[in-house]
Amino acid sequence: MHCPFCHALDTKVIDSRLALEGAQVKRRRLCPGCDERFTTFESVELIMPHVIKKDGSRVLFDESKLRSGMLMALQKRPVSMDLVDQAIARIIHQIRTHGEKEIESSIIGECVMNELALLDQVAYVRFASVYRQFQDVEEFQSEIEKVKRSK
Ligand SMILES: [Zn+2]
Repeated sequence: MHCPFCHALDTKVIDSRLALEGAQVKRRRLCPGCDERFTTFESVELIMPHVIKKDGSRVLFDESKLRSGMLMALQKRPVSMDLVDQAIARIIHQIRTHGEKEIESSIIGECVMNELALLDQVAYVRFASVYRQFQDVEEFQSEIEKVKRSK
């Protein structure tokens, strides 16, 4: 951490303790350059990144949109809501651990397809047909062949 007073490149931690019931680390630092002391707070950053859409625009990540997209593909399929919730939790975990401020919608789309492939193959093909914008029956067939082979 740079010194905020003289901008020396290195400062020393002289005390470190937990704050906010362990959610934060409070550190006293000493600058060997100018002898000033200051405090820093460190906490885990778990904000959701912005989503970069195909047209380049940025939108806030929207969990309800993710859910409705998946439920649409899963319509009338024998998959419990518990399993859907678990799949959504795994997707959100992946997005968070991505670690960047922005994430391309295509990466999220791939996460959703991976989860749907595990949940229900019919839902997977439904989602893929919309997501990948299948143009004709051949594309449908080749996707279904892929699913069959991966069984
Ligand atoms: Zn300094």
